[in-house]
Amino acid sequence: MSVITIDRVRKEFKGHQALKAVSLDIEDREFCVLLGPSGCGKTTLLRIIAGLETESSGDVRIGGRRVNGLPPRERNIAMVFQNYAVFPHMTIGQNIGFGLRMKKVDAAAIERQVKRSAELMHIEQLLDRYAGQLSGGQRQRVAVARALAVQPDVLLMDEPLSNLDALLRLEMRSELKALLRDLKTTTIYVTHDQTEAMSLGDRIAVMHGGEIVQVAPPPEVYRQPATEFVGGFIGNPPMNFVRTPEAQRALGVFAPPGAATLGIRPEDLDLANEGLSFDAKVVEMLGASQQVTTRVGDELLRVSLGIDPPVLAGERLTVRARAGCARWYDAQGKLLQA
Ligand code: ATP
Repeated sequence: MSVITIDRVRKEFKGHQALKAVSLDIEDREFCVLLGPSGCGKTTLLRIIAGLETESSGDVRIGGRRVNGLPPRERNIAMVFQNYAVFPHMTIGQNIGFGLRMKKVDAAAIERQVKRSAELMHIEQLLDRYAGQLSGGQRQRVAVARALAVQPDVLLMDEPLSNLDALLRLEMRSELKALLRDLKTTTIYVTHDQTEAMSLGDRIAVMHGGEIVQVAPPPEVYRQPATEFVGGFIGNPPMNFVRTPEAQRALGVFAPPGAATLGIRPEDLDLANEGLSFDAKVVEMLGASQQVTTRVGDELLRVSLGIDPPVLAGERLTVRARAGCARWYDAQGKLLQA
């Protein structure tokens, strides 16, 4: 059953199309990540779902109910933003209970919910402190606890971890994932960080230029990028795109009818006796792998190799595409289905 249905939602800002007829169904208890580069429309879509922004056309349904025009408080959603505003003049407990007080929940129930949410986020020892005295990571926990306290049907999060340092981000990421799975909350999570998207999402909706270009579980987005944009955006280093037929043939693959571009991941190119030969221009030792970059014609080609034997810059290498790993794109950059 889908909890949220976004049906051909468009948004225009003074003639600029921020969203172009976006449709998306989100299932009950799903963790769906909206992923895309800056300006692709992620935040606008999230704000429309929340009721903080009005769509130019299209429908939003939450729990089967059309919510167009309803204010945020009538949608049974909660939001956590990047700049998680905690109120410095309130205690942590008052901060967490804020949404419940707005809903005029009775005091005893507020106290129970605040305690429970604080326990979930492991900040119960901070309840009487003032929010101004907290570290970034603690403030983040307060913001999530406050969102959870209202027991929303849907939790909307916009880059909630981006202000944390790398280690804390990693910790919070795995904690959040486990917590939201246990709470069975339906979550929509906005990020431009592909690693975060891959590790958190049950599905990833990849956005580009105001459109959703692919919605699929992380392994599928990685293995079968629906467009060249997706293949280039996800994966580090990104997918290679080989456009010259000679180079494609040398890699041991043959273009099916309608194919223009070969997409092949750097780790799907293996050293071979026969294949595409080139001089390794740049070699980077990354610990677990060596990244070799070269130019083939006027295209960059990236190859990920194991660390043995070490490759020297300038060395002549020959590679072939691993069987079954070639993806083909048409002249518009769309994946051809095998
Ligand atoms: P980021 O990751 O940088 O936050 P985003 O994918 O969330 O980007 P949005 O914030 O949704 O992108 O913006 C989508 C487009 O709409 C951008 O071109 C942006 O400049 C434009 N836009 C967003 N809000 C407004 C506004 N209030 N008025 C005018 N244009 C806006």
